[in-house]
Amino acid sequence: MPQLLFVYDIFGSSFNSSSNYIFPALALKKLIWMQISMFILGEDKTVPLLEASNLSLRHHLLRLTARFIPRYERCTCNECEVFSGMFGNTFWHENITPTMHQWLNKQSSTRLPMSAFPHLRKICNSGFIVDSNGCSSYLIHPERMALPTLYISGGRSLLVTPQTSFLAHKYMKLHQPGFRHERVVVEGFGHSDLLIGEESHKKVFPHILSHIRLAEQGEIHTKRNQCSKEALDWEADQLYDGSFGQCGTC
Ligand SMILES: [Zn+2]
Ligand SMILES: [Zn+2]
Repeated sequence: MPQLLFVYDIFGSSFNSSSNYIFPALALKKLIWMQISMFILGEDKTVPLLEASNLSLRHHLLRLTARFIPRYERCTCNECEVFSGMFGNTFWHENITPTMHQWLNKQSSTRLPMSAFPHLRKICNSGFIVDSNGCSSYLIHPERMALPTLYISGGRSLLVTPQTSFLAHKYMKLHQPGFRHERVVVEGFGHSDLLIGEESHKKVFPHILSHIRLAEQGEIHTKRNQCSKEALDWEADQLYDGSFGQCGTC
């Protein structure tokens, strides 16, 4: 069984002047919102989402404010409204069953830990993954990711756009050409509905299974741990200004 990296998130998220098409327009409001919410939150960064919870004044204020934040879809469920106000819609409602919706809001995600949001903001502002200090300590080491990868994006964009997986896929093909790297954009899906959708087992999971199968076969014949010439030139790519090594603080 080969190691398998399965990514559908912000590996290559970008939100800077040169490539701001990667995040939907709502992202800018979100970034500002993150700053405001951190200010409101103060010390305790974990927000209870359940209606019945005993709330501190700060948490109460934050939940109230969250309801006014624009988002793609509104919902009749209070917990869902607060979550998507703070984080953004993560799925298209029509793609998940009422049972799943109920479970998510009343059992699974009853608290929203927001302490990672400042880190997330740094990633979004940089346009690629950085550590919590804002330093590029991951993408400068492609040799550490010697493994097959599969990228799955939703074609009906939500939260992040398919451009993120496009960049991640390209990065891995160039830096780890000895492994199988595939990318799929599944029409009609947004973000987390790719994994929890009613139709996921028909429209998404087969891609994962086939990738595992082919990666297992392919690894025997093609495994090698070296960068191609093309890979070394990758930083000259038009989508990037070659600034992966730069960091304001280190
Ligand atoms: Zn996600
Ligand atoms: Zn909902």
